[in-house]
Amino acid sequence: MDHSPFFSLPSPFFSPIFSLQNCTCPPFYLYWIGMRNKQTIAREVTLSGTGIHSGSPIQMRLRPSSSGQIAFIRSDLDGLEFRIDPEAMAARNSTNLVRGEHRILTIEHLMASLYAYAVDSVLIELNGEEVPILDGSALPFAEALADAGVRELDLPQETIHVREAFSLEAGEASIQVAPSDSLVISYRIDFDHPAVGVQEFRLELDLESFVVQVAPARTFGFLKDVPRLWAERLALGGSLENALVLDDHKLINGPLRFPDEFVRHKVLDLIGDLSTLGRPVCGHFSADRAGHALHLRSVRHLLQHPHLWEAG
Ligand SMILES: [Zn+2]
Repeated sequence: MDHSPFFSLPSPFFSPIFSLQNCTCPPFYLYWIGMRNKQTIAREVTLSGTGIHSGSPIQMRLRPSSSGQIAFIRSDLDGLEFRIDPEAMAARNSTNLVRGEHRILTIEHLMASLYAYAVDSVLIELNGEEVPILDGSALPFAEALADAGVRELDLPQETIHVREAFSLEAGEASIQVAPSDSLVISYRIDFDHPAVGVQEFRLELDLESFVVQVAPARTFGFLKDVPRLWAERLALGGSLENALVLDDHKLINGPLRFPDEFVRHKVLDLIGDLSTLGRPVCGHFSADRAGHALHLRSVRHLLQHPHLWEAG
């Protein structure tokens, strides 16, 4: 099946792969098999944009770190630090870090990109409460990471290998998890909307499949939900420039980047949420009509049931 985008892409689109091919780091497939060392970014990079939920302008700086962990700091709160802890996270139309009354919203597209580029150790400095949404996809993050490059640290990185299958449900939604030699994601969505309907997508993750097949897929929302979202102070920064928007009948800001862009975006979200395991994971995750809350439940379930997996 040809998964290439059917729209005409501007040349910068391909820069992440181009940079990869011109990179002196090991071939990307080495990141996915067996033990490897942790990695950080080689150079600092800065991205600026709007928070899709907060509506605030945000500047984000990614800085190399030898801590071996991904940490966020809020420069507007005297450097308050947030670690990636699935037990202290919330899902509410986005995946959020919570520390007391403070939070960092919408980390998932950035986190998916860090996972795909095998960046395990980085300091992410924000001057507000949200990661910028940029164009609603992970492509600008992938481009920034390709630009920054990666550098190996003298710290071993272990991988979680799922050994026993399990499944979780929440109403109509489900996630099934089974052993696999690599990270494989199968996703199915079913929206009662003429422009979406049933879509299915399967991805075996490596850097190239991420950059080409899912990173460009943008977030989406329904116009009819906007009053409720605004009342909950969500989607305040949403616009036709950073999300696919559907009215009752059609997509109002096409064209799509892929005919099945909606389900590809769900795959992207799941990669970002699985990255909060803090280690690469080998397993087959099959999601049906799921969302951030169920994605995070599967992460917590794995961490709370270590007999289901082995680290190595
Ligand atoms: Zn998303």
